[in-house]
Amino acid sequence: MEVLYNSTRSKGTPVKASEAILKGLSDDGGLFVPDHIPALDKSLKELSEMTYQQVAYEVMKLFLTDFTEEELKTCIERAYDSKFDTDVIAPLVEAEGAYYLELFHGSTIAFKDMALSILPHLMITSARKNHIKNEIVILTATSGDTGKAALAGFANVEGTRIIVFYPKNGVSPIQEKQMVTQKGDNTFVVGIHGNFDDAQTGVKKIFSDKELAKEMDGKGFQFSSANSINIGRLVPQICYYVYSYATLLREGKIADGEKMNVVVPTGNFGNILAAFYAKNMGLPIAKLICASNDNKVLYDFFRTGTYDRNREFMLTSSPSMDILISSNLERLIYRIAGNDADKNRELMAALSGQGKYEISADMKAALADFYGNYANEAETADEIKRLYRSCGYVIDTHTAVASAVYQKYLKETGDSNTKTVIASTASPFKFTRSVMNAIDAKYDAMSDFELVDELSKIANVTVPQAIEEIRTAPVVHDTQCDADKMKDTVKEFLHI
Ligand SMILES: *Cc1c(COP(=O)(O)O)cnc(C)c1O
Repeated sequence: MEVLYNSTRSKGTPVKASEAILKGLSDDGGLFVPDHIPALDKSLKELSEMTYQQVAYEVMKLFLTDFTEEELKTCIERAYDSKFDTDVIAPLVEAEGAYYLELFHGSTIAFKDMALSILPHLMITSARKNHIKNEIVILTATSGDTGKAALAGFANVEGTRIIVFYPKNGVSPIQEKQMVTQKGDNTFVVGIHGNFDDAQTGVKKIFSDKELAKEMDGKGFQFSSANSINIGRLVPQICYYVYSYATLLREGKIADGEKMNVVVPTGNFGNILAAFYAKNMGLPIAKLICASNDNKVLYDFFRTGTYDRNREFMLTSSPSMDILISSNLERLIYRIAGNDADKNRELMAALSGQGKYEISADMKAALADFYGNYANEAETADEIKRLYRSCGYVIDTHTAVASAVYQKYLKETGDSNTKTVIASTASPFKFTRSVMNAIDAKYDAMSDFELVDELSKIANVTVPQAIEEIRTAPVVHDTQCDADKMKDTVKEFLHI
């Protein structure tokens, strides 16, 4: 059955998957959502016998219904290849009885690679299907990981250009180095004087600037988005939840149909929303455990039913989760409002006006599958140290937030029998200083690359290629701008 995509903010004409991917954001500023969530049409047993690529096809074909089998399989083959340093693409590592789903084996060693290695292929296929002649300009705001993963995905992809905005003082040194050393004539990286929310708001504003869109069209350009507001990012993220269950089943760790919990370190709410969609496709998931850092808007939301961004923005050791406006939550709000675009639009207007909104009791009741909690900086560091001491497994700061929240969940609920998958979203090599300092304060005196070698030793893991590459790479991007000058910067880059 065909899946069409509606905006979360108005009842316009639904669009096909390829059109939603090309546009990124709907014209009314809303996000595209599937008109229904398709059910898995392969049994769990069948899925458990498949490779990652095969599972990805079985999931994505159900959402991207206007892609032919050949188109989709080609995209999948090109995305999930030897760019990943393991054949299984997303390995499951057991530590202390929980299963860490390592989503960081792609070229930029964060989970964003899972979707951004396929998005460029989905995008150019969509452009071809829709007879688009314009060059596609990918505009991206990043809290650190999306930027590099999108740059790596789109670099030198014909018919595309990519512009990445990151908060100049809000990413880790390794994240910044990864971005500013990006090669490719079609890439452009800009540090903004502001935080991630400023970058994201600026990008959304540029997207909804109708005059600019017209001007761009005249010069042969059109915008699209590589942020997780693009449905072409969300759908590929559903696949690894299905694959993790398939792996547990294949390895005899779970019984066919037995439910598992999923813990997700959350920022923009894209990753956990993908898990929610997986559950709605029929994957046996019990609780969706949403883990936040000190920017605990989501924890407060799940507890009180009020989403309130009026608070201090905290810079933490898990920068990819330093977010006060979780964009993808809008897709969940729309759904629990009964797919009511008017209601959702009202709440989003309150969010942009007063910085907060409150959901009804009925809507709150529809969130029963979610459990929210958070870990502060000390708890996050302690969790890295605790897990390393107990079993030698080293996790990054984001994964540590999830792991610490899982410990809180266990304590609160006693639910230790349910098998639990913890999304491990970045390699510890990406946040080496925070990780090593958490393990022992003595490491603070070492340089970034000395720490990399030390981490390799204590974790008994070879240094990933992504880190080796930046040791000596020259800086090729040094543009900075104020948050309110983002549009001018874009125009300069495009020479319009
Ligand atoms: C992006 C990111 C997150 C947050 O994911 P969302 O989909 O934005 O909730 C968590 N951890 C890491 C390492 C990330 O890069």
